Amino acid sequence: MTRITRATVHVDALRANLAAARAAAPDSRVMAVLKADAYGHGLLAAADALADADGVAVSCLGEAQPLRRAGYHHRILLLEGLFDADEVEAFVADRLDPVVHAPWQLDLLAQHPPSQPLDVWVKVDSGMHRLGFQPRDLADVRERLSQLSGVARIRYITHLACADDRDDPTTRDQLQCFEGALAGLEGERSIANSAAILGWPGAHGDWVRPGIMLYGCSPFADQRGAPALRPALTLEARLIAVQEHEAGARIGYGGTFVCPERMPMGVVSIGYGDGYPRRAPNGTPVLVNGRRVPLAGRVSMDMIHVDLRPAPDAQPGDRVVLWGEEDLRAEEIAAYCQTISYELLCQLTDRVAFQYGGSGDGSGTR
Ligand SMILES: *Cc1c(COP(=O)(O)O)cnc(C)c1O
Repeated sequence: MTRITRATVHVDALRANLAAARAAAPDSRVMAVLKADAYGHGLLAAADALADADGVAVSCLGEAQPLRRAGYHHRILLLEGLFDADEVEAFVADRLDPVVHAPWQLDLLAQHPPSQPLDVWVKVDSGMHRLGFQPRDLADVRERLSQLSGVARIRYITHLACADDRDDPTTRDQLQCFEGALAGLEGERSIANSAAILGWPGAHGDWVRPGIMLYGCSPFADQRGAPALRPALTLEARLIAVQEHEAGARIGYGGTFVCPERMPMGVVSIGYGDGYPRRAPNGTPVLVNGRRVPLAGRVSMDMIHVDLRPAPDAQPGDRVVLWGEEDLRAEEIAAYCQTISYELLCQLTDRVAFQYGGSGDGSGTR
């Protein structure tokens, strides 16, 4: 038995989730967000599965160039735009669209004009206060851009800070701020992340930018209302040992789990060195042969313990799922770990073997 710590990416689930994004925003074009190695799913494989999208968004050249090398020919938006003058001609060569979010990027485009004009997306800070121009400055920004030889089409983009809470009035304020700032300015608009696609129809605009929903996770803090999404990645390992311990036995580093009775304890071939979160507490659910059992004791680098009382017949070699099935979603594990599914998906390490397709067919790397 080799060490099995495996992520299976379900290409059909990615496609179905893209269709769900389209169905939710039928009048918008869809820009699939593939940053951070497609939220840990593998950039090229995800782009391939999501080839029906009208474009993709990534964070930097290092994520855009491999897509062009692989023949991806739709629009690619770089969400943080240019980092340096050295990058300008790479944007030209690969026909990449930069976000322009700050005065220094305007200066950069003025001082290092692209040899062919680029389509740019002006980022508006409508209330998240991360990147973007202030609404009062937009007319000037527009004026400056229109004088630059290196700029072709101008589009507008903003990002929502609180769309994952459908009761938070911030989103309404941000939408008003954005539209107010752009009154009278022509150009396509892009506002919505996954939460706004599903929860804020008024925010759809010309281009929507789904990320997490494509990977099958609910974008909502309360996890309600994303039932149609299918988990796109199943993380699994194997049971490598089953031991019987007496009442009072302390399990693992620090002995933080104490056996309340004589009981079977399983050891599973995954740990924080694979990206299973070390902060997962006692009781975090794990599926052994499809049955829920609780995590017991601290997560080690290569292993975890599971309380096998609910699955007393489990044997070494049996299949263990950490997340990514309908009845054990990454969102639930994230809640146990006081984080969000996004972080769990992004932090799988290279030690996890990735395979693409359905169950067992084909293999590949991220
Ligand atoms: C990551 C990101 C998205 C996608 O957000 P999700 O919540 O994953 O849908 C959209 N827009 C911007 C600017 C982003 O950084």
